[in-house]
This record gives sequence, C-alpha cells and structure tokens, in this order.
Amino acid sequence: MPVESPIPEINVSELILYVNCPRRMYFVNRGFELFPEMNGQRLERLILKELSLTYPEILRKCSLNADNLRKELEASLVRTCIDLPLLFPRELAGAERETLEEGEVRARAKIPEIAANLLGALEEYGKEPMLAALTPVKSEPFLSSERLNLKGVPSKLVCFEGAQVPSILKSGNCPEKGVWGSDRIHAAAFVLLLEAESGKEVPFAFVEYVSYGLLRRVVVRSSDRREILKICREVEKIKAGFMPERKEERFCKECNFSEHCIPDSSLMSKFF
Ligand code: SF4
Repeated sequence: MPVESPIPEINVSELILYVNCPRRMYFVNRGFELFPEMNGQRLERLILKELSLTYPEILRKCSLNADNLRKELEASLVRTCIDLPLLFPRELAGAERETLEEGEVRARAKIPEIAANLLGALEEYGKEPMLAALTPVKSEPFLSSERLNLKGVPSKLVCFEGAQVPSILKSGNCPEKGVWGSDRIHAAAFVLLLEAESGKEVPFAFVEYVSYGLLRRVVVRSSDRREILKICREVEKIKAGFMPERKEERFCKECNFSEHCIPDSSLMSKFF
C-alpha cells in the first residue's frame, strides 16, 4: 500500500496570504518572492513596527503631554533607523540610501497622529491598562498545534485583565471601528494556537495599528474559529499542489505575480 505523505504544517502567515489572495499564497508557496525589493513604503512600515515596540518604554517615562510624547517618539524613531540594518540585514541588503531616507521621512510624518492617538487612549483608559496592553510578557513566541497542523509567531503576548493574550502589529490602514476581516483571521489564528499551547480559553486578542498608534481588541467568535479551520483545509490543498482560481483582487494592480497570473492556462502551464 502506498504510504501517504504527511500534510505540510501550515504557517499563520500562509492563512493571511490566502485571505488576501489564494493565488498569491500559491505563488509564495512555490518559492516566488512576495516583495522582491525594498521600497520607501515597506521601509516606513518596518520602522513604524519597530517604533511601536518602544511605546511602553516611552509611556512609562513620559508625562502625559503631547509635546513630550512627540519628542520621545521622534528620538526613538532616530534610534530605530540607526538599528534597522542590524535588525533586518537581509531585507535591507542592497536598499538604496534614498529608499532608506524616504522610509524615515514617511515614518516621521506619522508621528503627530501616533502621538495624538496614544495620548487620547492614555486619557481614556489610563496609563496602567495601556501599559499592560502594550508591554510584552513574551516577544515573538513560537506557537504550534499538531491538531490544527498550524504554527506561527505572534508579535507578542501581553497580560491583560488577568489573561495572557496574543497581540499582532499591523502597519497598514486602520478601519474606523474594529479591525479588518483579514486582521480578525490573523488574530483568531493566534488565539487558537495559544489555546492549544496553554490548554486555556483565550478570551480575545489585540491588533495594534502601528501607523496610527491605535490598539483594537478582537473577541474571537465561533464563526472566526470555523473560518480558520476552513482556510486551513484550503491552504493544505494549495500546499499539496492545487492552483486556486484567479479572481480579480484589489491587490492585482500592485502584485508582482501578475505577469505569471494570467487567465490563459496554456501559458500558465509553461511556468508550472
Ligand atoms: S495578480 Fe491578482 S489574482 Fe494573481 S496573484 Fe496577484 S493579486 Fe492574486
């Protein structure tokens, strides 16, 4: 009898790729680079993610004043930009000086809004709850579940209202209320993984929109759990070689796979 090959373990990042576009997940799984080169926008996002990791330190020492907060964020941004090549040598290898400068300028332009939102949240929720929601008790912990055939690394775990919960950093736009659907899936996947690791129910997760200094709480519903399981099964099929249908996605215009992702299947077969 032929021995069935094991289904490769799924990474949470693959679920997110799938949610954005199943075909993209297919291409990345086949070794294509999602972002072939660094540009100003990617760098801005990288800088703002790193900057957000310094919020707890800043909030701890800073008096609740918009000017102070802005100055501390500016100083932290400068340090972040100096450290960046040491933190991301592979991503920054070959990045042009202009790109680095553009990334820094773009990130700096976000500071007034970040400072205003952090200050607003401090006034609304208080310093201690804010620090609890932002301060990691574990940074980038590896989580996995054999039962889900899933693994992943959330940005951090924080201890909030007596529970250890995952928190993810998002550098894109922030919705007016709540979180984007794909961010809900991202957060829910880590909730499931943390529950599998800890054996306890995880009541919610945080999504931090780092370009805005906004933190959103996501309570994971049964429908989210169901969705994760469904996506895992679809991703497994793609990892086994199935190419999903091409749909016109909002990412198509900027997608670097577009030249391969053409409707003409006879041409596609030349590549795959
Ligand atoms: S071109 Fe569009 S459909 Fe094809 S992989 Fe890119 S985003 Fe997906």
